[in-house]
Amino acid sequence: MKNHLGHPVFKVLADIAAESHIEAYVIGGYVRDIFLNRPSKDIDIVVLGNGIDFAERAGAALKSKVAVFKNFGTAMLKYRDLELEFVGARKESYRADSRKPIVENGTIEDDQLRRDFTINALAISLNKDNFGQLVDPFNGVNDIEEKLIRTPLDPEITFSDDPLRMMRAIRFASQLNFNIDEAALAAITKQKERVRILSKERITDELNKIILSPVPSIGFKYLFDTGLLHLIFPSMAGLYGVEVINGKGHKDNFYHTLQVLDNICEVTDDLWLRWAAILHDIAKPATKRFEEGHGWTFHGHEDKGARMVPQIFSQLKLPLNEKMKFVQKLVQLHLRPIVLAQEVVTDSAVRRLLFDAGEDIESLMLLCNADVTTKNEYKVKKYRNNFELVKQKLKDVEERDKIRNWQPPVTGTDIMEIFGLSAGKEVGLIKNAIREAILEGDITNSYDEALAFMLIKGKELGLTPVTEQPK
Ligand code: ATP
Repeated sequence: MKNHLGHPVFKVLADIAAESHIEAYVIGGYVRDIFLNRPSKDIDIVVLGNGIDFAERAGAALKSKVAVFKNFGTAMLKYRDLELEFVGARKESYRADSRKPIVENGTIEDDQLRRDFTINALAISLNKDNFGQLVDPFNGVNDIEEKLIRTPLDPEITFSDDPLRMMRAIRFASQLNFNIDEAALAAITKQKERVRILSKERITDELNKIILSPVPSIGFKYLFDTGLLHLIFPSMAGLYGVEVINGKGHKDNFYHTLQVLDNICEVTDDLWLRWAAILHDIAKPATKRFEEGHGWTFHGHEDKGARMVPQIFSQLKLPLNEKMKFVQKLVQLHLRPIVLAQEVVTDSAVRRLLFDAGEDIESLMLLCNADVTTKNEYKVKKYRNNFELVKQKLKDVEERDKIRNWQPPVTGTDIMEIFGLSAGKEVGLIKNAIREAILEGDITNSYDEALAFMLIKGKELGLTPVTEQPK
């Protein structure tokens, strides 16, 4: 075990433990990650005594500044690329109405017992007589081998004491591709309502970690099966289910969405593009209709879905900024490349898509590719080939017409100067007409043609130029 603590910093900590006659251990995520072969930079140290005093000594020995959090009894220091956090060993007990425990000094075993999962309760000794020895009272290493999330205490108590652990269990299962132990899963299902005492921010923090995991459907299936999803993100849970009328069913939009999400995760780590995958069909339940002779339709689900995005972001305390606008834009446009792939593509349709998607055209194409979830190999090939054609067409049209970062060749200021107008409706009308003419392909995306078109348009509106046209 000694080689696990190969970093010189551990020798320094061991010397302090020996000199001050205080037992110290490395504990938690850092030890877990050793066994998972995931190098980690965050080291938690627990000492049988005053964690802040120990940190001050470590800070002096390592010539590092120590940040003390007196209220929490913890202290932190940075050493090279490592972040070390120190705390005294604790025994915790909980009351029903709060995540905040009553804390007393405790033994190393008490401290391990207050940890959420056996895999997070591993400790390694920094003490002279058994330096490097693993302290694993709950068989955490075995659970790592078995890929199992299990609680050291009765799971009912663990989750009731701190319901955030329900989200953490599912998050670790998703990040590590582990299973949640049956008793723990049953306890989460039973205690799910306790999630209501958590702040939205903490929930969304964990949700985002699930979304950023390699195969997020693992986490979302657990969230759904335990009933947590219905409480924390009801509109997503609402995607579940298949209705059948006259023998005709539609696909289950929950599992479809999960497949799209897993697909997009293979090609991007971007949290917001992953969110766009989650929300792309969010309005399908609200727009679902059965049309006689036709079957199931979801007309306008892209528009309604885009309108739902701000509300969902606000409820989940996600940022209401350009990230939200990006997600909204992708939800709004997610059918457009598909339509292009099915029809004979006109240049003007391609220009319009480039104009509407702008800088986000590549992300949109990734989403559309991920949206192909049919099991029919032939269809998959056909759709993907069509997307390749659309992509080529997008490239050709963009090279020629430069629409993607389009700036009007004749500006509003130009229009006002030439016709002696002040800002108002007419300026907007002319600007829109120029943009439409370019997108339709009636004129090219150039200053000269736009200027000539503007003069004709102005004349139609009864305007006459008051200046020489600027060159
Ligand atoms: P990651 O860095 O991936 O989030 P981690 O396990 O290092 O994983 P932290 O949140 O930094 O995550 O927690 C450090 C340790 O503190 C955990 O390994 C666990 O032992 C303990 N811990 C954290 N949160 C809780 C909790 N809610 N209940 C009990 N123990 C917890």
